[in-house]
Amino acid sequence: MNITITHAPGETLAFAADELRSYLARMLPADAAMSVRLVTVPKAGSDAFAVDLSPVGGSIVGSSDRATLLGVYDALRMLGCRFLAPGRAHEVIPPVAPEAIRLRYEKTAAYFHRGVCIEGADSRENILDFIDWLPKAGFNAFFLQFRTPYVFLDRWYRHLNNPHAAPEPFDAADAEAVMDQAEAQMRRRGLMLHKVGHGWTGQVLGCDSLTWDSSPHPLAEDKRPFAALVHGVRDFYKGVPTNTNLCLSNPQARARFAVLVTDYARTNPGVDYLHVWLADEYNNVCECPACRESAPTDLYVALLNDIGRRLTAEGLNTKIVFLLYQELLWPPVRERLADPDRFVLMFAPISRTFASSYDLAAPRRAVPPYVRNRITLPAGLEENLAFLRAWQDVFPGDSFVYDYPLGRAHYGDLGYIHIARVLCQDIARLHEMGLNGYISCQELRAGSPNFLPNYVMGRALFDGGADFDALVNEYFQAAYGPDAPLALGYLAKLSDLQLCDYVNGKGPRMDPAAADKAGQALRLCGRLASDAAKHTGPFWSALRHHAEYGQRLAKALQLLAQGRDSEAHAAWEDMARYLRATERRTQPWLDVYRALDVTRSYTGL
Ligand SMILES: [Zn+2]
Repeated sequence: MNITITHAPGETLAFAADELRSYLARMLPADAAMSVRLVTVPKAGSDAFAVDLSPVGGSIVGSSDRATLLGVYDALRMLGCRFLAPGRAHEVIPPVAPEAIRLRYEKTAAYFHRGVCIEGADSRENILDFIDWLPKAGFNAFFLQFRTPYVFLDRWYRHLNNPHAAPEPFDAADAEAVMDQAEAQMRRRGLMLHKVGHGWTGQVLGCDSLTWDSSPHPLAEDKRPFAALVHGVRDFYKGVPTNTNLCLSNPQARARFAVLVTDYARTNPGVDYLHVWLADEYNNVCECPACRESAPTDLYVALLNDIGRRLTAEGLNTKIVFLLYQELLWPPVRERLADPDRFVLMFAPISRTFASSYDLAAPRRAVPPYVRNRITLPAGLEENLAFLRAWQDVFPGDSFVYDYPLGRAHYGDLGYIHIARVLCQDIARLHEMGLNGYISCQELRAGSPNFLPNYVMGRALFDGGADFDALVNEYFQAAYGPDAPLALGYLAKLSDLQLCDYVNGKGPRMDPAAADKAGQALRLCGRLASDAAKHTGPFWSALRHHAEYGQRLAKALQLLAQGRDSEAHAAWEDMARYLRATERRTQPWLDVYRALDVTRSYTGL
């Protein structure tokens, strides 16, 4: 075989060439000869590429080195490759005859921001496999939360929620080593790096703030004036630095915050998008007389402007991402962001329902009045959109949504068809919502029963929506083979019985309709388990495990919704035993730590 790939120098183009050569070598017959040029013609804006391939070769031209790599993977997909899940073991690479290679098309990504944010419990391999998968699925960004992703790695290596697995030694230095490897793999692929978000407020108060844990030390006296005054005291909020707000009218607190962010941007030039968020709790903003004179968002915007001025003075072009979340959903009253190009608006409707997609036809609502430390989070989609619209009236810059379909709600959809459809419809509506992309805050192992939702997410973000049913068929054919309709039949029926909001803790726990649905899901999972056992292959094997887990979860949900709490908890214990005992073989598919955490802490099992 004679495959020649030429390209200009550069790490990402060299990687793209290696990838194209390696896949074609597995697809083409031994006597094939092909010559392909990979070219980058830089162009601002969304990722774009042109593919021109014939039986003897041709070219793939991208608007950036990353876009050229995306073009390589897209061309491979057009030739029949299917990248079904993180991990190269889950790829379908078909043979192809050279004479069948006739591709000539151009594509521009519909949205600029297309990324995933790390959550859950993750091994080093989980993170690296996910980064490898991102561009294959059409994504261009990854978000490592905090200054290092220690907390997510620590949960895995300590095997939280699984007493069967012995904790492995893992410390902050190990997390930094994994982070360095992850960032190197991102650079290799030209992916955009998002970082931090949580932890700044704790750092201002003198803490490492790399987790949501309580501080082992009391608040230092010299930092006490910087902490928010809540119910008459300035201290860590419920002991947790990451959840503690600041006294942002205090010029020293604000300056310390701005210096920390500026120092970080200077010493981490590889960070493209630096997230500057406040506490990860609400109704705990400062009640001192000076802070009371301003809306919390006005003090936040003043801080952001201070940060922007410092970055500009140092010639740093790091983008600062600010967050519409909790108190900050209320737009500023007096302050405005002085340099809109510096900032990116991130809309985070964490309390939204996942029963349905955004309804843009509903009339615009008014934002409710802000009452200090007495807010309730908006649950309805119209209420959430009202806040976004009000912010868009005062901020004209770049923006994206930070959404959570694969964060908690997905455990309530045992079929994954429903949650995949909702996120597909949401993504199709982003332009109309005035948003230029989507970052999914999620477990990286959101793969039980399969990775369809993430697959649809990547494709819909690139294409600006998608023919959902066609994508589902494409995925199922590749994952389940000739009996794909059988798998789809079961999973579609399970999705008709979805309890996403119930599992997410929304609504009364005693709920006869939910109990009925869970009972039906229980019987359906029983039949699925025996039918899946008749098939082979990794996706059928994962489906069989999923059906066993699904029966146990559905049983627990049925009992809880019937008000039989202690029996429900016993059923949850049975599910936990099963998931813990089988975790080794299902590790890449299901985040056992998170599934148990959500069903206990949010569902109430
Ligand atoms: Zn204050």
